Amino acid sequence: MKIAMMARNPNLYSHKRLVEAAEQRGHSMDIINTLQCYMNITSHRPELRYKGEKLTGYDAVVPRIGASVTFYGLAVLRQFEMMGVYPLNESVAIGRSRDKLRSLQLLARDGIGLPVTGFANSAKFADDVIKVAGGAPVIIKLLEGTQGIGVVLGETHNSAKSVIEAFGGAKINILVQEFIKEAGGMDIRCLVVGDKIVAAMKRQGAEGDFRSNLHRGGSADTIKITPEERSTAVRSAKAMGLNVCGVDLLRSNHGSVVMEVNSSPGLEGVEKATGIDIAGKIIEFLEKNAKPNRTKTRGRG
Ligand code: ADP
Repeated sequence: MKIAMMARNPNLYSHKRLVEAAEQRGHSMDIINTLQCYMNITSHRPELRYKGEKLTGYDAVVPRIGASVTFYGLAVLRQFEMMGVYPLNESVAIGRSRDKLRSLQLLARDGIGLPVTGFANSAKFADDVIKVAGGAPVIIKLLEGTQGIGVVLGETHNSAKSVIEAFGGAKINILVQEFIKEAGGMDIRCLVVGDKIVAAMKRQGAEGDFRSNLHRGGSADTIKITPEERSTAVRSAKAMGLNVCGVDLLRSNHGSVVMEVNSSPGLEGVEKATGIDIAGKIIEFLEKNAKPNRTKTRGRG
């Protein structure tokens, strides 16, 4: 197969591993810098151009679109799709996953367990939204935060209300969520490829931090997940329409709940913690699903 990977930094662990895994299996993988692509949007011959040349002949595309370039990255991925190139994850599904509120609504629609979450357009309703989320302490989250930045613990009703008002005043969208204290700063990242969980790890926040993000100094280890957790993670991926994703779970008193579904999961933490060749499993998934004879652009000059 000839595979394109949309990525900006070829030196990131995940990107290097995907190239390595593709080459080990006899495929080629070109890293295409997303922001350097430009396009010709015509009805019959949609084109993507890169460094003065037309991008052509790809069987599959692996989108690794950073949160800060979602808008342009999704436009490039849609163009690949219109050219008939098989996307590892589809643009529509990635678009959904980038909006936390929309993701939670899609998961809720499919009956997946979530932390109780409130959302309002105006800080006027702060008192009631805090009540909806079960009362203080509550978690307040930026709708478009990543890596744990923009996740705040409002320990008392008044502090939560001031934070909600501060974000409201700055016109920043937030959601207010039940604080799962019993998780003890631990969450579970399940790596879904196709309809299987290929690896799971637990992440424990640094001493005194309720956030378990590895970028915030958390540590990772292997964990055995329950059959319910397995099924929750697979159903979450399906609800979002993602073939490959990281599903983050919190163990709460009312069962394991889904906190987030990440459409470009990092591979470093989970491969190092579990020793599992996840990049290889992703390429295997493409081998099974990116059928070259289904690719419309194949063979065209
Ligand atoms: P980001 O997308 O920025 O990583 P998350 O929603 O994943 O934001 O939150 C960051 C971390 O904060 C999580 O990994 C988890 O450890 C903790 N956390 C988030 N939501 C809750 C919650 N409702 N209850 C308890 N801890 C939470």
